[in-house]
Amino acid sequence: MPPSNRPIHARPQAMRNFRNEMRSATMSELTMPVAASPGRLDEAIAAFSRAIGPEHVHTDDATLAEFSDPYSPSSWDDYRPPVVLQPATVEEIQAIVRIANEYTVSLWTNSQGRNNAYGGSSPRMPGTVVVNLRRMNRVLEVNDELGYVVVEPGVSFNDLYAYVREHGHDVWIDVPDLGWGSVLGNTMDHGFGYTRYGDHAAAQCGMEVVLANGELLRTGLGALGAGDGWHVSKRGFGPSADGIFMQSNFGIVTKIGLWVMRRPDFYIYGFITVPQPDDIAALVEALRPLLLDGTIPNQPEVFNDFAALAEGAKKADVWPNPGRVPAEVLDGFRKKSGAGAWNLRFALYGREEIVDVNLAAVRSAIAHIPGSTVNGQKLRGDDREAIEALGQPGQVQAGVPSMSFLSVMDWVGAKKPGHVCLSSIAPLRGADVLKIRDIVRDACAEYGYDYGTGITLSPRHLTHISTLFYDAEDPVAVRSAYDFCREVIVKAREAGFAEYRAHIDFMDHVADQFDWNNHALLRFNETLKDALDPNGILAPGKSGIWPKRLRVK
Ligand SMILES: Cc1cc2nc3c(=O)[nH]c(=O)nc-3n(C[C@H](O)[C@H](O)[C@H](O)COP(=O)(O)OP(=O)(O)OC[C@H]3O[C@@H](n4cnc5c(N)ncnc54)[C@H](O)[C@@H]3O)c2cc1C
Repeated sequence: MPPSNRPIHARPQAMRNFRNEMRSATMSELTMPVAASPGRLDEAIAAFSRAIGPEHVHTDDATLAEFSDPYSPSSWDDYRPPVVLQPATVEEIQAIVRIANEYTVSLWTNSQGRNNAYGGSSPRMPGTVVVNLRRMNRVLEVNDELGYVVVEPGVSFNDLYAYVREHGHDVWIDVPDLGWGSVLGNTMDHGFGYTRYGDHAAAQCGMEVVLANGELLRTGLGALGAGDGWHVSKRGFGPSADGIFMQSNFGIVTKIGLWVMRRPDFYIYGFITVPQPDDIAALVEALRPLLLDGTIPNQPEVFNDFAALAEGAKKADVWPNPGRVPAEVLDGFRKKSGAGAWNLRFALYGREEIVDVNLAAVRSAIAHIPGSTVNGQKLRGDDREAIEALGQPGQVQAGVPSMSFLSVMDWVGAKKPGHVCLSSIAPLRGADVLKIRDIVRDACAEYGYDYGTGITLSPRHLTHISTLFYDAEDPVAVRSAYDFCREVIVKAREAGFAEYRAHIDFMDHVADQFDWNNHALLRFNETLKDALDPNGILAPGKSGIWPKRLRVK
């Protein structure tokens, strides 16, 4: 149990008082999840075994460890599930849901379950059973004509890429920095990649969901039950339901459609550097018009010098002393490597004459920043070998998955390295990027963390993601990183910035920041939760949404 993280299933408005009252309470004195009752769980496990086969019901230590947060200490049991279920069909999921209702057992669904830096596969609440959907791994459709794919939950980005290549399809999928995550799971947590369709939640179209009562729902045009328009138009008739199943606990999603790019004739892998830390403001101002008018069609990502240094290096080799990497070491790295204070990758796609003109437009937009550089490497869209040889930053903008970015974990030099992310959204303006940069950078300096950041740009907003590295077997280091995040989240909120995604440890805290009109949004979510899942079996606590039976009145 992490020391200052007792489960508190309180409404946010009551949360602070409740926390004070309960400061010295032990876990057993708090609201005890019904799901943790061992008798009920044993009966449920027997029923799960009958429903999906005992070989797919895992209670052994190795599997439970595999499906726990890989970036927290092995000694912590809060986030370790008691059982992992791996169903293979929609019908098996429906059976699991019915059993969970019967025994009031809580379920936490993931797809690949690699939500690392946000809790991995771990459930939010102790005693919650993990339902992992890796075995449901069929690519159901790749449509070249209309540019979409349809996948089951277990399909990873690596799987989808291999399928597209093997079957000779003419589309480029979108991938995040690591290829092992699931297309569906990443989309459910509002994850993103780096092509034209990098915003996965925005690219998602048409969904199939098992509801908490076991019923099967199809959204949008899927509800028509006729024709094949399910994945081409987001709107059906009436309210659009898809969004409420993301970052929520209202259903188990079993299929999604996702829009993908047609293969472009040409791809330019572009790279910009700017020399000064404050140049990030001018860079953002210069690129916003090009993002808004579609000259730059993808989601560029800009890394600071520390992030560039940490990728593929070990701290012990760079700065073999305790504490932060000093400014002079970063200066030396920039001089030696040619890196800037900020380093941005971007993509241009299309016919040759168009990408050439667009690259010239990027060059001219950046030219006024002293010491800036712009490089563009032009490749034919059908030259997969050349694209695959680009290295990770160039590859992912062309939808080619990679695992090489995982080398960033070597930085700490620990046997079990870990990190947690602070992931703040701000308007895409120079003044705002400086504001969020200053909040996080200054807090890092105060608390002794290196300021390592990647910022993803969309036409209207940016996502400022800072990475806090630690030795994951050091409970004090991990707890300190969580506490640091909590504090900075409040500072960011005071400046008007929100987290787009959160580690399970501080999901309630993030939900607590969204308090307009006495938490009207959270109360709306709770109303939906109580209506859709009256027994409160699905993912208690996801995004701060607790079912009635676990809420403190
Ligand atoms: C070095 C590094 C780099 C990373 N880079 C990126 C990046 O570029 N972009 C990015 O987005 N992330 C990134 N991440 C974060 C994370 O690893 C990925 O987002 C990853 O894809 C998430 O894991 P997953 O796809 O297996 O999702 P899962 O773990 O399967 O699911 C994530 C969450 O979605 C919900 N969910 C999943 N499946 C279902 C379902 N069937 N029904 C209902 N809800 C469901 C659950 O709440 C679950 O916890 C990075 C992490 C690391 C460590």
